Formats: sequence, C-alpha cells, structure tokens
Amino acid sequence: MTEILKITDKISYIKATGNPLSADVGMIEGDEYLWIFDVGANESVSISLKGITKPKKAVVSHFHPDHMANLEHVMLEEVFLGANTFKYAKRGTVVADDIFIDDGVKIHIFPLPSSHAKGSVGLETGDYAFLGDATYATMKQGRVCYNASVLKEEITVLKNLSAKFFLISHDEKFIRPKEEIIAELEEIYSKRDPKESFIWI
Ligand SMILES: [Zn+2]
Repeated sequence: MTEILKITDKISYIKATGNPLSADVGMIEGDEYLWIFDVGANESVSISLKGITKPKKAVVSHFHPDHMANLEHVMLEEVFLGANTFKYAKRGTVVADDIFIDDGVKIHIFPLPSSHAKGSVGLETGDYAFLGDATYATMKQGRVCYNASVLKEEITVLKNLSAKFFLISHDEKFIRPKEEIIAELEEIYSKRDPKESFIWI
C-alpha cells in the first residue's frame, strides 16, 4: 500500500517514484470532492486512489506520462489541464485563465508558463502551491536550457501567488519555501544573454 503523507489536515501527497517513473500526487480534501494534483503513473497510486470512495476531481500539471498516465485508471468527475495537455489526454476542462473554486477549501487553478512543458498548470490552496515540473528546464540540442521570456513570465506568475510554500515534483525535499524557488529562478534569469532566446545552463 502506498504511503499517504500529511502536509496539513486537508492536504496530503503520495511521494514520487523513480521506477516506474511517477510524479508526486497531491491530494486536497474538499467538502464535496477529493482534489488530486497530478495522477501519477504508478499502479500502486491508482490502487490507493481507487480505495478512496469520495468523488474526485483532478488537475494535471502537464502532459508528461509520469504525471498523467493514471488518468486511464482513476474515475474522475472532472479533469483540469492546459490546452497542450488536452491534446494528449483528449478530455477535460482547459485552463486558459485563473479558476477559483470554493469546496470548503479554496482551490486556485492557474496557467503556469514553463520552459519544461508548454501549457503547464498549477494549483494553489492556502499556504501551498503545487507546481509539478514547471520550474525545471528543458533540453534543446542535447543541452539543458530555459526559454528566457517564458522564465520571466513564470517568475511573475509565481511572485503573485500568496502561497508560502511551493511543492516541486520529483524534488527530494518536495515542500520548498516560495522565496527560495524564486531566488533560484531569478539567479538563472540573471545569466541570460539579451541577444539569445535561451539561457543555457
Ligand atoms: Zn515533466
């Protein structure tokens, strides 16, 4: 049985695994629904989720299989995702703008510019914001890089969140102070060459 780790009395998560590659799966206990952030790819995760009888809604951060493969295995009332992820999932509600939902807990779903995956989506609830892989870089021509203008937009969106902690998928620490993440991204942005679209790191 997969361990469900508590963050607060309403927020918990299942840790990411490397084999099979499966993202961290966030869970927020609303009055009506269990809100899931990323459904992962590990079969033990889908078994755990199936064991929870409460109706479920999910937010999928981006289209990579380790974040969304279990969509096929978990019964969901609704799925929120970015337009690019919709192309792969072929279902769900596209998040084109901020969405605010009150389900006893406040849920804020928002588009999140990301070099890692086009059309990423984040979820903020209280002091915590689930960001998936959105703060990570991407690979171009075998090299690790950020898209400079996308990174600038991403930093702006992240600064505007009121959450104090960012939840970063696959990160050994997972729960990181907002200021620490923003400082890291600003450090990368400061290394840009104004003549180049990409920041090679
Ligand atoms: Zn990813």
